[in-house]
Amino acid sequence: MEFQDKTIICKDCGNEFVFTANEQAFYREKNLEHEPKRCKACRDKKKAERDNHSDNV
Ligand SMILES: [Zn+2]
Repeated sequence: MEFQDKTIICKDCGNEFVFTANEQAFYREKNLEHEPKRCKACRDKKKAERDNHSDNV
């Protein structure tokens, strides 16, 4: 099975981002059926919001 880089529109910011062949292979390996809906920046932001929940700085 060969993967090819794929361009996806981010659900949050509307920017295009690349779902790379490597990432697709990783998703397949993890049995993740759904493609990412958000770009990396938005995913990092979400993650940061969760991680910094008690951080007021
Ligand atoms: Zn985004």
